[in-house]
Amino acid sequence: MTSASPHMRQRLLLVYMVAVTVVGAGALALTSAHLTWPTDLSASTVVSVIFLSVFGIVGELRPIWLVRRGQETRTLSLATPAVLALVAVAGPLIAVAVQVSSTLIDDIMDKRRWYKTVFNAAQYAVCVLAAHGIYETLAGDLGGVRSPLAHAQRIGALMLAGLVMIVLNWVLIGIAVSLASGQTLRSTLNTDAGEFIATHVVLLSLGGVAADLAPHGVGALVLLVPPAIAARRFASAGARHAHEASHDSLTGLRNRSELHHALGDALEEAQHVYGQGPGLVLLDLDHFKVFNDTLGHPVGDEILREVARRLEAKVPEGASVHRLGGDEFAVVVAGSAEDARSLAAQLLAGLDDPVRIDDLELLVRASAGVACAPMHGSDVDTLMKNADIALYHAKLERDRISVYAPEYDLNTVERLRLLADLRVAIDKGDLDVVYQPQFQLAGSRVVAVEALARWRHCTRGPIGPDVFIPLAEDSGLIFRLTTVVLDKALAQLALWREAGHDIRMSVNLSARHLSDLGVPQQVALALRRHGVPASSLVLEVTETAILSDPVRADLVIRALRALGVTIAIDDYGTGHASLSYLRRLEVDELKIDRVFVSNIRAADQDMIIVRSTIALALELGLRVVAEGVEDQPTVEALRGYGDVIAQGYHLGGPAPAAEVEQMIIRANGMPALEGLARS
Ligand code: C2E
Ligand code: MG
Ligand code: MG
Repeated sequence: MTSASPHMRQRLLLVYMVAVTVVGAGALALTSAHLTWPTDLSASTVVSVIFLSVFGIVGELRPIWLVRRGQETRTLSLATPAVLALVAVAGPLIAVAVQVSSTLIDDIMDKRRWYKTVFNAAQYAVCVLAAHGIYETLAGDLGGVRSPLAHAQRIGALMLAGLVMIVLNWVLIGIAVSLASGQTLRSTLNTDAGEFIATHVVLLSLGGVAADLAPHGVGALVLLVPPAIAARRFASAGARHAHEASHDSLTGLRNRSELHHALGDALEEAQHVYGQGPGLVLLDLDHFKVFNDTLGHPVGDEILREVARRLEAKVPEGASVHRLGGDEFAVVVAGSAEDARSLAAQLLAGLDDPVRIDDLELLVRASAGVACAPMHGSDVDTLMKNADIALYHAKLERDRISVYAPEYDLNTVERLRLLADLRVAIDKGDLDVVYQPQFQLAGSRVVAVEALARWRHCTRGPIGPDVFIPLAEDSGLIFRLTTVVLDKALAQLALWREAGHDIRMSVNLSARHLSDLGVPQQVALALRRHGVPASSLVLEVTETAILSDPVRADLVIRALRALGVTIAIDDYGTGHASLSYLRRLEVDELKIDRVFVSNIRAADQDMIIVRSTIALALELGLRVVAEGVEDQPTVEALRGYGDVIAQGYHLGGPAPAAEVEQMIIRANGMPALEGLARS
C-alpha cells in the first residue's frame, strides 16, 4: 500500500470506497428484507428509543475531543453508546437509522464532500449491522428470559457486539486514511491505540447500562445525561489545558516540546514510507534584539506574530511551524534535504516584504539551518543539534541558508567555546587595547591614534581581531566589547591630553552599532565620564556597515555628529558605496583601505585609485587617512598626492600605550617643554 504511487493509491481508494458503500447498502437491503421495524415495543420503551435517538444525534454533533500530545487529534462520538443500546432495545434498523442520520447531519454541517458522506454512512451501516449480527447470534435466543445468567449473557453479548462495532469502524476508516495519506495501515492504527480502546470501553459500558435501563422508561436513562455532560466538560477543559501547555501563547504556534514529538513521529513515518527525511528547518531572525531594544517589546511581539503568520502561510499541508522561544522557529517537513532547503528558501522569501506596524516599515530578515534524516542524523536530538549547527553556520557565514555538513561541526563547537571564553575575557577585563599612530605627512606629527582590540587567550595565546570581532558581531557581544574598548581608549586619551598631547582617538564601530539608536547617548556618556571633548573622538565605520541598514545608519551617524564626534569611513574602497553617497551621509574622514595603499608602487591601477580618491576626498573637504603604509617610498608618493595622514607598519604598528606615547613624543616633541618654550 505504501510503496504505491500517489496516483495508484488514489485509484485504490476509489475502489475501496465504492466497495464499502456497496457492501453497506447491500447489507442494509438484506436486513430490511428479513426484518421489519419493531412494532411490539411497550410505550415506555418507545419513549426510551426516542430519547436514545435524540441522545445519539446530539452526541454525534457535540463529540468529546480526545487530546493526544496537546493536539486535538480525535473526537469521540457520544452516539456510540446510544446506538449500541438501540441495537439491543430497538433492533438494527432503528440503530442504523439513528447512526446514519446523525452522521449525515454532522457531515452536511461540516460541508464534507458527498462521496465522503456516502462512504461514512455506508461504513457505519456495516459496523452497526455487524454488531447486531454478533448480538443476535449470542443473545438472540434468550427472548424474554429474566434469570441472572441470561442477563449477564445479554450484557456480555452486547459488550462484544459494541467492541466489534468500534474496531470494525476503526479499521474501515484506518484503511481509507492509509490509502489517502500513504501511511502504512499499521502506523495509522497504532496512533494512540491504547487511549482509543480505553475510552471506548467507557462508552460501551455506558451503552450497556442504557440498554439495561431503556425498558424501564426514560426516567432512569435521563440519569445518564449528567455523567455524559460532565465527561464532555472535563475532556474539553483537559483539551484546553493541553493546548495551552503545548502552544506558544504569543503566536499560537506549537512549542518546543511539540517539535520533539512532531519530529519523532515524522522520523518513524519516514522510515516506513519514504525511506528518507524528514527535514528539519530552523529559522532565527537576524538582529531581532535591535528591534526589541529600540522599538520596545510590544513592537517586537507584533513582529513575531507577523513572522508566525507568514511562516504558516508558506508551509505545505501536514507540516507545522513551531516557535522554540525568542526569535527562533522550526518546521518539520517530509522529503529530501533539497526539499527542506527549498522550503527554507520559501520561508525566508515570505519575510521579504517589510513588516508594517503602525507607520513603521521594518525589514525583518532571518537565517535558516537545515538538517535531514538519515544523513544528518536519525534521531530527534541529533537532527536538532545539527540543524542548530547549520543555523549557526548560516549566521556566521551570512549565507542565510545552510544545510548541515559534518565539517561545520568542529568549527562550530570550536567557535562556541571561543565565544564563551571571549565573554569571560570581556567580563574579567582581560581584553586589551593597543594603539596605532597616524601621522600627518606634512609636518610628520602624530595627529591621532587608532584603538585596536587585542585578546590573549589563556591557553591559545593571542587571537586575531579577524577571528574574535566577527564572533562578537554575530553573537551581539560586540556591544560590550566596544564599550570596553571605548572606555579604555577614552581613559587613555584623557591621560595623554592631561600630559599635553593634543591628539584624536579613533575607535572602530561595527554594523550593529549603526542600527542601534542608543549608541549616540552611550558615546556622549562615555565622553562626559572621561572629560574628553567630542571633537577628539573619531568613530570608524565601514561602507558595508552603513549600507546594511542605510536609513538607521544615517540617523545614528547624524546623532553622533551632532555631539561633535567625527565619523571616518574605514577600509574605503572595499565596499560598494560611492563617494558621493558617503558625502550625502556627511562623514568627516576617509580611510583608504590598505589593499590599495600597500600596493601603489607595484600596480599602476592602485596608484591611480589612491591618487584620485585622495584628490576627490580633499576637494570634498574630507580628511584623508591612507592605511597600510609599509615603506618609505609609499610615504613619499603619498606626500605628493596632497595633505594626507598615514597609518602603517612603516610608521608604527599597533602597540601598548606606553610605547605609543614614546612614538608621539619622538614625533611631536615633549609637550611640557614645548609649552615652556612658548611661554
Ligand atoms: P582596521 O580598523 O582597518 O584596523 C587596521 C588594521 O590594519 C589593524 O589590524 C592593523 O594592525 C592593520 N595594519 C596597520 N598597519 C598595517 C600595515 O602597514 N600593513 C598591514 N597589512 N596591516 C596594517 P588588526 O588590529 O588586526 O585589526 C583588524 C580589524 O579588526 C580592524 O581593521 C577592525 O576592523 C577590527 N577591529 C580591531 N579592533 C576593533 C574594535 O575594537 N572594534 C571593532 N568593531 N573592530 C575592531
Ligand atoms: Mg579601523
Ligand atoms: Mg581599516
